[in-house]
Amino acid sequence: MSSTPVIGVLALQGDVREHLAALDTAGAAARAVRRPEELDAVDGLVLPGGESTTISKLAVLFGLLEPLRARVRSGLPVYGTCAGMIMLADKILDPRSGQETVGGIDMIVRRNAFGRQNESFEAAVEVRDVPGGPVEGVFIRAPWVESVGAAAEVLAEHEGHIVAVRQGTALATSFHPELTGDHRLHALFAGMVRQAGR
Ligand code: GLN
Repeated sequence: MSSTPVIGVLALQGDVREHLAALDTAGAAARAVRRPEELDAVDGLVLPGGESTTISKLAVLFGLLEPLRARVRSGLPVYGTCAGMIMLADKILDPRSGQETVGGIDMIVRRNAFGRQNESFEAAVEVRDVPGGPVEGVFIRAPWVESVGAAAEVLAEHEGHIVAVRQGTALATSFHPELTGDHRLHALFAGMVRQAGR
């Protein structure tokens, strides 16, 4: 891999454009991913915020769920924000019926745990592995992580709830750094992708 990793954004639903822009700023070559062939061509993948039940349904419809599972199992670096975090959870506490996840992080998530749309908020969040002070966490109908398994590392908590987790080459946050001008988490992820490609 050259020093510019190719990082895809799963572009089925959600805030795809914001992630593409954040990845560009973080020094990656960003690409939208909708088809299995496009998935094959990336060194890392972002699963955006949006609505996890819709993303799950569309992933099945577009024939992407199994290819996604297979690539994540074989070590594709992935970063999920909010709905994307839910997609990376091995288990959802309160799934809609038929709701699937890609999995990859040994954690149990609770959807909409921080409340409804009108209870969305911003808070300063100190994230391990992100130097330079807290990041501005934007929480929109955000999940939290109820519990993690032994392989997963907690990177951040907000008011006693786990909001950022890393397991090997998989990263997940309850909040949306792509909606702020601060792209340190995208830079962290781009670094993970570079490292995995060595
Ligand atoms: N509550 C949404 C879900 O279950 C996530 C919201 C978001 O991504 N901002 O998918």
